[in-house]
Amino acid sequence: MTRLPMQIQLAQNKKEKPDPSTLVFGKSFTDHMLIIDYEEGKGWHNHRITPYAPLTLDPAAIVLHYGQTVFEGMKAYRSEEGTIRLFRPDQNMKRLNYSLDRLCMPRIDEENALYALNQLLQIEQEWIPTLEGTSLYIRPFVIATEAFLGVAPAKSYQFYMILSPVGSYYKEGIHPVKILVENEFVRAAKGGTGSAKTAGNYASALKAQETADKQGYSQVLWLDSVERKYVEEVGSMNIFFKINGEVVTPAINGSILEGITRKSILQLLRHWNMPVAERQISMDEIRSAYESGELEEVFGTGTAAVISPVGELNWDGYKMIIANGQTGELSTRLYDTLTNIQTGKEKDPFDWVYEIKKHVAKLA
Ligand SMILES: *Cc1c(COP(=O)(O)O)cnc(C)c1O
Repeated sequence: MTRLPMQIQLAQNKKEKPDPSTLVFGKSFTDHMLIIDYEEGKGWHNHRITPYAPLTLDPAAIVLHYGQTVFEGMKAYRSEEGTIRLFRPDQNMKRLNYSLDRLCMPRIDEENALYALNQLLQIEQEWIPTLEGTSLYIRPFVIATEAFLGVAPAKSYQFYMILSPVGSYYKEGIHPVKILVENEFVRAAKGGTGSAKTAGNYASALKAQETADKQGYSQVLWLDSVERKYVEEVGSMNIFFKINGEVVTPAINGSILEGITRKSILQLLRHWNMPVAERQISMDEIRSAYESGELEEVFGTGTAAVISPVGELNWDGYKMIIANGQTGELSTRLYDTLTNIQTGKEKDPFDWVYEIKKHVAKLA
């Protein structure tokens, strides 16, 4: 790997760090950010860490009009020994390239991007909160910057990474949520961009989210775009059902976002010798499992909340109360195991964690 030179301009004034006990998701940002430019013919260049600041963009920048942009989301934790721990960041960089390809954007060098993240995290390490349930959320994203109102892939881009100290996704830590099954709107269709982490998927989901919110539901469960029959995923999480001892999650089908948490949960469950299935699952099947008392647990999985137990599913007015509206045993075990591996309280049998001190020493 060729290490690209990084220019570093440190902030003159450091911000005051928020109180870790009152942190909410994605509202405060650290002192610095990473920027890398891209130009057709020149490739990625001008790697730099600068003070966190608003961007200057041409009002005709393609990203503002046609949404040519992709992002990622991951977390850094500080272990009790003081090392910085990242959970499977190689998987995020790989998925970033998958999303970039889908949006006709130039691929990044995964190893270089991770090395740049190392450097940014070392500068910002005091921003990693250590209180139970807190972490430093990392948001890499790429935008099309070329000023052009024609519809075509841009010739210039910028890659950014910004950092945000975050608390538990839910104030009380792990806590069951109420979910509304969405029968009218769809998130993504096969052949669309559902499997890429791109802005348009989220913009088009807002309408359904708003309706659910008004009815007291925190998220929507998306169904397939053709028959509105098969389960896809929840908001920004993948979904799992424990039915009569077996854990079922919708198979990757071209319209679902393939979560890294999902993949890790499947690996953990198989490691524990629990029966698991990745397959199509319909709402009819879930309803009959509920009626026969076999629907034991439902939970969402994603970087932000890790595991989010579902206490209620509302399908067209039919309310299913799951695990008495409590957090199930399996959800708790998965949450504890995953967060303990992430923070270093438990051994990592899968080599998932990337420890910064160690890797920097290796790369230097
Ligand atoms: C990011 C995301 C997920 C979860 O992916 P993780 O890698 O587990 O964080 C699931 N669904 C959507 C739509 C997402 O954007």
